[in-house]
Amino acid sequence: MNTPVSITEASCADDYDPDSMPVDKARAFILGFLSPVKGVARVALRSGLGRVLAEDIVSPVNVPAHINSAMDGWALRSQDLAADPAAGLAEIGTSFAGTPFGKVVGKGECVRIFTGGVVPEGCDAVVMQEKAQANGKSVTFNAGVKAGQNVRHVGEDLKAGAVALSRGRLLRPAEVGLLASLGIGEISVYRPLRVVFFSTGDELVSIGKPLAEGQIYDSNRYTLHGLLTRLGCEVIDMGVIRDDPALIEKAFNEAGAMADVVITSGGVSVGEADFVKAMLARLGEVVFWKIAMKPGRPLAYGKLGGAHFFGLPGNPVSAMVTFYQLVRDALLVLQGVNPLPVQPLLKAICTSAIRKAPGRTEFQRGVLYLDDGAFKVRTTGEQGSGILKSMSDANCFIVLADHVGNVDAGAVVDVQVLEGFI
Ligand code: AMP
Ligand code: MG
Repeated sequence: MNTPVSITEASCADDYDPDSMPVDKARAFILGFLSPVKGVARVALRSGLGRVLAEDIVSPVNVPAHINSAMDGWALRSQDLAADPAAGLAEIGTSFAGTPFGKVVGKGECVRIFTGGVVPEGCDAVVMQEKAQANGKSVTFNAGVKAGQNVRHVGEDLKAGAVALSRGRLLRPAEVGLLASLGIGEISVYRPLRVVFFSTGDELVSIGKPLAEGQIYDSNRYTLHGLLTRLGCEVIDMGVIRDDPALIEKAFNEAGAMADVVITSGGVSVGEADFVKAMLARLGEVVFWKIAMKPGRPLAYGKLGGAHFFGLPGNPVSAMVTFYQLVRDALLVLQGVNPLPVQPLLKAICTSAIRKAPGRTEFQRGVLYLDDGAFKVRTTGEQGSGILKSMSDANCFIVLADHVGNVDAGAVVDVQVLEGFI
């Protein structure tokens, strides 16, 4: 668990207006309070997928370990063709991947070679087979053979002793493969983050029970579970907590005692049944709770014992948008990810007209597509913060910065893509 940091409202009141904290400022502000979990575990390489490296990996070997061919063709001495490019060279053997030729190649000689095969001593170039003509054991080559061509040199990808991957790297399939290529079968990774989650709201019903009038199914626990699982967190779901201060207090105490991070949804507004902010102020520390964003305002951030606390708004889209924009990066930092991956902002032509008031950042749900070679984006239609379908239909956020007002159809807007390859 992290050491509690003192983050009283007073300590940061000078720097911002707590009633309309800009999104970027809120994000930077939260990041300032985070340090990675301390716990580290040794795991088998495959189990490292999705985890964060807790050590620098120094390459024990050169990659590649042997000088080898990038092509199927013939390995030769380029100087043999310098004087007479049309000269035939004598093929004296073969180098397969895994079965080297093993002898020195002399003047006027060449060796049949396949991709990954060791380039024999004496040779300095490989000519691909499409640019050569074999006549029995005499081979001629198209003009223009250069020293070094199609040859992969020892250590050209990675030198022995160099840092292959630094502490803080999130391990994707490429990193796992890279570690395998170095012969590394076990690694140190940060322990998973323990995130406790509960929903608040008297109207919420868990799946499996019929709905009475005015009740709705609790969907936030499912989206949050998905978001957290994708991030490799250990998720503890405490279910639905009624809008009852005593029950909320009990849940806060239980959650704060066992979690690195506590996330709640609902009850952060100023309605009569909104107890989350007051409870956080009483049992922990509140840093801020109103962000100049739509959807998403308000959001409570603070500390609860040793845990970081995020009180997300209850509206299903608001909960997701605040998670993506403010919580996700925080969880990555706590998991040890360093540096944080950049979330690219793409430019696209917006085909929908959007009404927007300046003074807050809006995240509209959009569909990004290619039209005649140009990126275009349209909104998913109705953008109400309770309409989860607008998230489900979307593959991106259209990000309209604080200063932006109404957007005309045809204007260029910023877009954040929701899904990548990985
Ligand atoms: P609140 O933030 O508690 O004022 O809730 C705002 C809106 O979101 C209300 O319409 C709630 O019914 C709805 N809501 C709150 N929590 C959830 C949840 N877990 N799942 C689905 N809808 C919710
Ligand atoms: Mg509520």
